[in-house]
Amino acid sequence: MSIELLQWYDQIKRDLPWRTDQNPYKIWLSEIMLQQTQVATVINYYTRFIQIYPTVFHLAAASEDDVFKLWEGLGYYSRARNLLKCAKEVVAKYKGIFPKDRDTLQTLPGIGPYTAGAISSIAFNQKVPAIDGNVLRVISRLHTIDLPINQPKNHSVFHIHVMALMTTRPGDFNQALMELGAMVCTPTSPKCDVCPISMQCKAFQSNRITDFPVKIKSPKKRLIKLAICVILYGEDLLLIKHNEVGLLQGLWGFPRVEIQTGEAPHQVIRMYLEEQMGVDVSVLDEMIGKKHVFTHLIWEPTLYFITINEKIHLAYPEIEWVKLSEVALKALPTAFKKQMPLIEAFMNNQSS
Ligand code: SF4
Repeated sequence: MSIELLQWYDQIKRDLPWRTDQNPYKIWLSEIMLQQTQVATVINYYTRFIQIYPTVFHLAAASEDDVFKLWEGLGYYSRARNLLKCAKEVVAKYKGIFPKDRDTLQTLPGIGPYTAGAISSIAFNQKVPAIDGNVLRVISRLHTIDLPINQPKNHSVFHIHVMALMTTRPGDFNQALMELGAMVCTPTSPKCDVCPISMQCKAFQSNRITDFPVKIKSPKKRLIKLAICVILYGEDLLLIKHNEVGLLQGLWGFPRVEIQTGEAPHQVIRMYLEEQMGVDVSVLDEMIGKKHVFTHLIWEPTLYFITINEKIHLAYPEIEWVKLSEVALKALPTAFKKQMPLIEAFMNNQSS
């Protein structure tokens, strides 16, 4: 089966910028970007990154702000944070040379079993699997495996199956399986009539494709009612750098506070801003914000516009006063960025 799959891959493989050579830095960068992001989107980001940071040494010397800015729009900023940490570690610990083996690669920030397997097999021809969601789906159908693919404890079973199929060219074999999942063995309506392994596929042969892969239902996303504080001083807006560990760490945005059921937002905002920034404020106006869906939670924000009479200057949390036109220069996560047209409309309205 491995031969049919590799022959098919050799014919159809897409011409992607990170496939021009086996440079581990380029493969690592592309793999991190491809997590939860479509190939078409990644191409532009990857090209820009490689232009600005052509080697791991260039990237390791970058600031977090610059990397976040370049990453803007790709989402999942923990990837960008770990990208920089990993580059620094590769330079400091390994003199800029990526380790070859999967286990050592997995000790680096942001590199899990899949990415380690991809780098190790594609860049270094090591015979190890690289199992992503596409591979799990293909293998699940190929062998009619009824274990839920979204339970990591089951992945060792898929690992064994992939290794049993891999005979030669490990990097290409892993990419062929992923490509098959992405282009042919798709989640809905797989194109079995053009599939190079349909003869061996148990789900296809037994007409049970829709039974696989098996998944357990993921828990419901948590809904968060959020107050976003847009603090204004004349034409200046206050931005805050989020220091707390988590989703938005290291990114710029607006002060925000969660509003629990039954709480009065204005009171919560006053207390929050007094405690965090030592300012006594009153809310000028409010506006329903744009909802944002993260992986595990949903923000349902309301924008609260607040003017203050005296500019505050703080070292912690780090803040900055910027003009509306300068907000775009900051690395703002999409959850805040999508509020900007509303903020702009409010400010224009105020000044007219
Ligand atoms: Fe997927 Fe169909 Fe190929 Fe089986 S035959 S691996 S279900 S595309």
